[in-house]
Amino acid sequence: MIFYSTKTASLKASLEEAIFNSLPPDNGLYMPAYFPRISDEFLADIENRSFKEIAIEISHTLFGNEIPRTEIETLIDQAYDFEAPAVQTGQDEYVLELFHGPSMAFKDFGARFMAAIMSYFLKRTNKEIRILVATSGDTGGAVAQGFFKIPGITVTILYPSGKVSDIQEKQLTTLGHNVTALEVDGSFDDCQKLVKEAFLDAELNSKFNLASANSINIARLIPQSFYFFSAYAQLKKFGKPLVFSVPSGNFGNLSAGLLAFRMGLPVKHFVASTNSNNAVPRYLHTAVYDPAPSIETVSNAMDVGSPSNFVRLIRFFEDDWNAVTEKVSGFYFDNDQTQKAMRDVYSNANYVMCPHTAIAYLGLQAYREKARSEDFIGVFLSTAHPAKFIELVEQTLGKSIETPEQLKSLLEIEKVSIKMKSDFLEFKKLLMSQL
Ligand SMILES: *Cc1c(COP(=O)(O)O)cnc(C)c1O
Repeated sequence: MIFYSTKTASLKASLEEAIFNSLPPDNGLYMPAYFPRISDEFLADIENRSFKEIAIEISHTLFGNEIPRTEIETLIDQAYDFEAPAVQTGQDEYVLELFHGPSMAFKDFGARFMAAIMSYFLKRTNKEIRILVATSGDTGGAVAQGFFKIPGITVTILYPSGKVSDIQEKQLTTLGHNVTALEVDGSFDDCQKLVKEAFLDAELNSKFNLASANSINIARLIPQSFYFFSAYAQLKKFGKPLVFSVPSGNFGNLSAGLLAFRMGLPVKHFVASTNSNNAVPRYLHTAVYDPAPSIETVSNAMDVGSPSNFVRLIRFFEDDWNAVTEKVSGFYFDNDQTQKAMRDVYSNANYVMCPHTAIAYLGLQAYREKARSEDFIGVFLSTAHPAKFIELVEQTLGKSIETPEQLKSLLEIEKVSIKMKSDFLEFKKLLMSQL
């Protein structure tokens, strides 16, 4: 696979370089130079393939001879002991449950794959790397679980103090070993900025092999395309076109859907669904991109004012607004609408959703309203298990919900974090002290 920088088309990188650099040196984003098509034969028979078989075929299509197929098989086998079932919630309406991994959020799909592919490359070079990652909630847990005890890799996670749920915090502060959690006095955007600065700092880069595990890293993006194919495989028998509604923050998830589409997955339309952090839906309505500082909402993992994958999102369409809007619609919803949707779906379909999933649900309803005469199956992506946001869910529904055992046991463990101001020099000093 060849990648180019969104800022300088002539700046190229291999798969291995793109994964370990995360960002091109000009601070653009890596984008595939072309999109290999999934074979017609495979698509014709995809309903008979397992999730792992689909993941292997897509990886093989993308990587060609860079990674031998047998190695890809091992890697996928290591990464995935969970799947993405599509569950019916209404007429022509399905929820794609992406929360069956170890941290119970969709970010496990990216983090597990990334850990497996990095350790595949590291095995051949004996390098040691340091992963830096900012989290608005669920990335931290997925990355901590994905990379836990992987040889040659240490992980530093930055999260905004007091702005993640108890369970989310426990997921990133209780593992220890090669995982360190920094509790930053600031917002998610502050955490993201600190990480970006570290990657541009010459001294840090001379001391550490820094790598990022945020959704800007192509190694997280690629595997997220697997479940769009898997949803198609599960729903193909109905013979109707698919519309995907994606609850979005940094827009990695939607970018992965667009990658799948560019590789030949039949998709009628995508819906970019956000909370009040609505820079992308506003862009889709007005053609003007005007990011704003992040606002706190009940869907906190999507509280991103300035989405890091926006540039990628429009690059899938050669930065042409008309082309983007032909394939992607955007809608945004406030807290009241979110909580009302959680109640509605619970009373109508007896289905409990997390607040992020509720945003995706609302986006799908809004699109259906707009495309009323059209016949399609709507798929809204469920990005986290509702028990990860238990307080809000219980308060919203007015009833108690069950917490899976894997989350319950976490709450008993003491958290370990290092408190830090949102200050780059302090961050740098801390990293240097861990040399
Ligand atoms: C990260 C996250 C999102 C947003 O995904 P992006 O790829 O950043 O758009 C949505 N929901 C949950 C639960 C998340 O953890």
